[in-house]
Amino acid sequence: MTFQDLNLNTPLYNALDDLGFTTPTPIQKESFNVVASGKDVVGIAQTGTGKTLAYMLPILRNLKYSRQDNPRVLVLVPTRELVVQVVSEIEKFSKYINNRVLGVYGGTNINTQKQAVAQGQDIIVATPGRLYDLAVSRVLQLKSVQKLVIDEVDVMLDLGFRHQLMNIFDILPQRRQNIMFSATMTKDVDELISDFFINPSKISIAVSGTPLENIKQERYDVPNFYTKVNLLEHLLHDKEEFSRVLIFVAYKKMADRLFNQLEELFPSESCVIHSNKTQNYRLRSIEQFREGEHRLLVATDVMARGLDIEGVSHVINFDTPDYPENYMHRIGRTGRAEKQGHSILLSTEKEQEGLERIEALMQMKIETLEIPENVQISTELIEEERPQIKERNNPTKRSDANKPGPAFHEKSEKNSKTNLGGSYKFKMAAKYKKPKTRGDKNYNRRNKK
Ligand code: AMP
Repeated sequence: MTFQDLNLNTPLYNALDDLGFTTPTPIQKESFNVVASGKDVVGIAQTGTGKTLAYMLPILRNLKYSRQDNPRVLVLVPTRELVVQVVSEIEKFSKYINNRVLGVYGGTNINTQKQAVAQGQDIIVATPGRLYDLAVSRVLQLKSVQKLVIDEVDVMLDLGFRHQLMNIFDILPQRRQNIMFSATMTKDVDELISDFFINPSKISIAVSGTPLENIKQERYDVPNFYTKVNLLEHLLHDKEEFSRVLIFVAYKKMADRLFNQLEELFPSESCVIHSNKTQNYRLRSIEQFREGEHRLLVATDVMARGLDIEGVSHVINFDTPDYPENYMHRIGRTGRAEKQGHSILLSTEKEQEGLERIEALMQMKIETLEIPENVQISTELIEEERPQIKERNNPTKRSDANKPGPAFHEKSEKNSKTNLGGSYKFKMAAKYKKPKTRGDKNYNRRNKK
């Protein structure tokens, strides 16, 4: 398949020719018709898969020339570096199209950006905070936005941008196409989709380039968190075999909880990264792991993005991801450069569905191992594992029939009269034909007539 098979136009073909692009990448092939159809779209793809072009090609093909000042396409990205990168990509593809593209981000003079916005734009690429500030200042009008793209939404939510996204959704027109790209699926991303997207089409590109034969995959069925910790302790005692271990967990709280356990079991051998840690702390942790100072690194899916660490002996999936793509990203961290890698997956009963999805994607079964006898099976449960108790019959809640009345008696008829307006004094004056006030000198004159 070449770009000629996609229904593009001459200006776009010429720009692609100039760039030397001939074949669409898998995400570009899959996205084109869906994005062009105007439906809401969720794409799972990593940076480097050509996802910018995947959403921009259909958008640029359908964007008509216009003189109106208000932007019609809004692209939100988490960092200013990405704003610059996406703007430069769009400019390359728009070489033969007469459109106006502007990138705006925080940390720079807002007035310069206001002036640029005021000149009229077709496409705005922005970080959420600065975009909102510009919209609130009313220089940037969002009422004409027809297409909203949110790129790297997993990073955006992990950095705590959810609130800003909500604010922006509030001021965008209701009728618009939502297009979202994320490298990993997290609980937060899933929630955002179900709250704001209308029946989105999902496009997912499994990570390629990871030769699965290079990775020995095994799994254990484990009942709960503490038994997982006991099993981990058992495995990690073999320091020679488990020489550099990347341990994945789904969310920050779990990362801290597991890190604390590991610190007790293997003091000064582990480090942790997630988005609530400072940039310096994260860099230091990665460095210590890379240099071999620390043997164990606990990480969330999003933070492990882009980690290129040589010689990871084992990837341990402390939990089973809901989305099989996340599993593929995780295990791709071991077994690089022709070296044999190892992956171990731990699943509770609740996580069996996730496991089925992973096996379906890979079209293979992962070998199941028995928990060794000397690993203690714990019965203690963490907060998330305890059954949720719902109060059905709350005895303190009364039914309406037994509801007590107001705590005071009704007003008597006399006291409940309402003020109908007008002045009592005026009425009396009219009735008894007396001056309204002693000072009303004109009273007699008026009444003589
Ligand atoms: P992205 O995933 O959007 O960050 O793109 C990764 C890089 O691949 C960018 O430098 C793009 O210019 C380039 N690229 C995107 N699509 C293609 C394609 N179809 N053929 C060759 N290079 C591409």
